[in-house]
Amino acid sequence: KNLKKYYPITGGVFGKEIGVVKAVDDVSFTVKRGETFGLVGESGCGKSTTGRSLLRLIEPTEGEVIFDGVAITALKAEEMRRMRRDMQIVFQDPFASLNPRHTVEKILEEPLIVHGLGNEAQRKQKVREMLEVVGLSSYHATRYPHQFSGGQRQRIGIARALMLHPKLIVADEPVSALDVSIQSQVLNLMQDLQKSLGLTYLFIAHDLSVVRHISDRIGVMYLGRLVELTDSRTLYENPLHPYTRALLSAVPSPDPDAARERIILQGDVPSPANPPSGCTFHTRCPHVTEECRTARPPFKEARPGQFVACHLY
Ligand code: SF4
Ligand code: MG
Repeated sequence: KNLKKYYPITGGVFGKEIGVVKAVDDVSFTVKRGETFGLVGESGCGKSTTGRSLLRLIEPTEGEVIFDGVAITALKAEEMRRMRRDMQIVFQDPFASLNPRHTVEKILEEPLIVHGLGNEAQRKQKVREMLEVVGLSSYHATRYPHQFSGGQRQRIGIARALMLHPKLIVADEPVSALDVSIQSQVLNLMQDLQKSLGLTYLFIAHDLSVVRHISDRIGVMYLGRLVELTDSRTLYENPLHPYTRALLSAVPSPDPDAARERIILQGDVPSPANPPSGCTFHTRCPHVTEECRTARPPFKEARPGQFVACHLY
């Protein structure tokens, strides 16, 4: 609810605050139990910061995160630590997120140790079970991260996130670093796990083709703000925001008849340290009007279940 994450920009010899980056600027949305909520946008749009703020791996500047009825932004560190059993993260780069000097067993066992769960034999048993759950084998337990392929490493990252039986997993571009041929295997695994374990996903991606088939609903972010939010079918068939339309036009379609006209956006994403006034998309929007340059469009329900921040609606 009204999530904000601002970073001060410091400069000069005294490191004085000379500005602020609004990485996440008043974002509100709900992730429903058991669904996959896709959060999409170009790099630097604030989607990772949003995902991490939900778990309080980053402390939001303002706003509230409510998980299962509990306002976790108000919890003290120890209460939050306990809460974190229910909410885990899978990172983009499985190699960077796995300690190269630890065996897979040690990596997977760690969350159990941190939370004081089980004795050594029980933990080792649990590690072996979890390796099977993610499609690896128990004999992999004694190996090191470098002995695995990228896809296998991401399976280890997923296994680590599952060790505490969480309810919610924030998956921050979990397949972006993988070969295209491996991506669908990992996505299929994640979908199977969602069904069998009753997981809820916040799935972060930089392009719509990855989230299309796995998301129930999708939020599109631009420069720290949500610009459109609706169910994934509506988003693909009837996108409203000019930015969503441009992103979608870049997604290759297997059906040549359904091929969309490619919308090429002018210029680059502006610096979040100095975002445009009014609608922050106005510097690149093909439909810009005078109003767009001065007034920030409210995020509102333009059609039932379809929220958009644009003066056209
Ligand atoms: Fe384009 Fe204006 Fe809509 Fe922003 S508010 S997306 S500039 S039409
Ligand atoms: Mg990111």
